[in-house]
Amino acid sequence: MSLKRGRKFLNTPGPTNVPERVLNAMHRPTLDLSDPEFLDVSISCFRDMRRVILTEGEVFLYASNGHGVWEAALANLFSPGDRLLVPESGNFSAAWQDMATALGLEVQTVPGDWRRPARPEAIEAALRQDAGGIIKGILLVHADTATSSLCDVAGVRGAIDAAGHDALLLVDTIAALGTTEYRMDEWGVDVTVAASQKGLMMAPGIGIIAASEKALRAHERAALPRRYWDWRTRLEAEHYRKFCGTAPQLMVFGLREALDMIFEEGLETIFERHRVLAGATHAAVEVWSQAGTMSLNIEDPRERSPGVTTVLTADGIDANRMRAVCRDEMMAALGGGLGKLDGRAIRIAHMGDLNAPMLFGALAAVETTCGYLDIPFASGGVSAAIDHVTRAKKEASAPVTY
Ligand SMILES: *Cc1c(COP(=O)(O)O)cnc(C)c1O
Repeated sequence: MSLKRGRKFLNTPGPTNVPERVLNAMHRPTLDLSDPEFLDVSISCFRDMRRVILTEGEVFLYASNGHGVWEAALANLFSPGDRLLVPESGNFSAAWQDMATALGLEVQTVPGDWRRPARPEAIEAALRQDAGGIIKGILLVHADTATSSLCDVAGVRGAIDAAGHDALLLVDTIAALGTTEYRMDEWGVDVTVAASQKGLMMAPGIGIIAASEKALRAHERAALPRRYWDWRTRLEAEHYRKFCGTAPQLMVFGLREALDMIFEEGLETIFERHRVLAGATHAAVEVWSQAGTMSLNIEDPRERSPGVTTVLTADGIDANRMRAVCRDEMMAALGGGLGKLDGRAIRIAHMGDLNAPMLFGALAAVETTCGYLDIPFASGGVSAAIDHVTRAKKEASAPVTY
C-alpha cells in the first residue's frame, strides 16, 4: 500500500521550504552582467540584508553555502598560526573548528556538553586566562542545528567585555537568522555569517557575511591566502567585483523576493510565529516522551532554538530508520542526528516558510511513523501541538465568539 501523492513535506533544518513567490522570482531569463535592472536589485539586497542583521557594517554576498562563508570569514580575518577560541555547542561548532584547523589556525575549545548552548561564564574564564591576548577570535554558533540549542549572544559579548578581551566575535547565525532576534551592532558582533536556505526562505546558494569596522581593520592585517573570498576586491566599486565574477543573478532575484516577504511580515511577527511553532513542537514531543523512548535534547526551554527541535531516541531505537520511513513512506523529511548523535536523534525543523497546518502535518507524520514502526510513544502529541497553537492565538487576540 502506498500513500505517496501530493507535496513532499520538508522539515529539515536547511534547506527549508522556498515560497512560491521566491521560486517565481527566480524563474526568469538571465541578463547582461551590467544590466541596470540587475544592478538595482543586487545593490538593494546588499543594503537590505543590513536591515535583517541589524548592522551598519559591510555586507558581502557569495555564491556559496554556509561552509563557504565559514571559510570566507576565517580567510579574511586571520593569519597562519593565529589562535581562535571555539565554545563547543554541537556538531556545527566542531565543524567550523575543523575548518579553522585545516586552514592552519590554532584552536582552543571551550568544552560543552551538547545539551546546552555555549556558556558565557566559561568563555569569560577562558579569556581571563589569556592575559597576553593570544586569542584573536571567538567562533560562536548562535543556534547549533545539531543540538537545537540557542546561544545567548549578547551574554557572550558581556563576557568578553567583562574579561576585557580584544578578540573578534564571529557569530554563525546560519540557522537562527530570520527565526529569532539578532542584533549585530547592538550585541557588538564583529562578523556575522549567514546563509540563504534556512530562516531566510531562499534556495541554497547564497552565503552572507556582515563585517564591523573592527573586522575590516583586522582584515587589512590578515595574511591567510584568499582570492575568491577576498573582501578587498569585493569592496571595489565595480559591481562585477562584488561577486568576484559573474553574479548568481537568479538567486539574487530570489533573495530580493525573500527579503520583501520578510519585511512584509515583519521581523517581530516572524519571531513570534517561530516561538509558537517551536512551542507546539516541544508540546508534542513532551507527550510522546512519556513512554520513555524519546526526549527533548535541550532541557531548559529558554535555551531551545526556535527553528529546530532535536529529539533524542532511547537505546534500541533506530532513529535513522525512523527518519527514512518518515521521509520515504510518509513524505515528510526530518533531519537526522549529527556527529555523536548519529542514529540517536531526529531533528524536526520548524523554520522559514511554515505555518501551523504544515507543522501539524509533519508532527502527525512522526506520530504515524512511530506507530507503524511499533516504537512506543504516548499518543496525543499532535493534539498537544494543536492546543498550544490554539492557546497562543487566544492569548494574542480577543477570542472569536460564535
Ligand atoms: C546549515 C548550517 C551550516 C552549514 O551550512 P551549509 O549551507 O550546509 O554549508 C553551518 N552552521 C549552522 C549553524 C548550520 O545550521
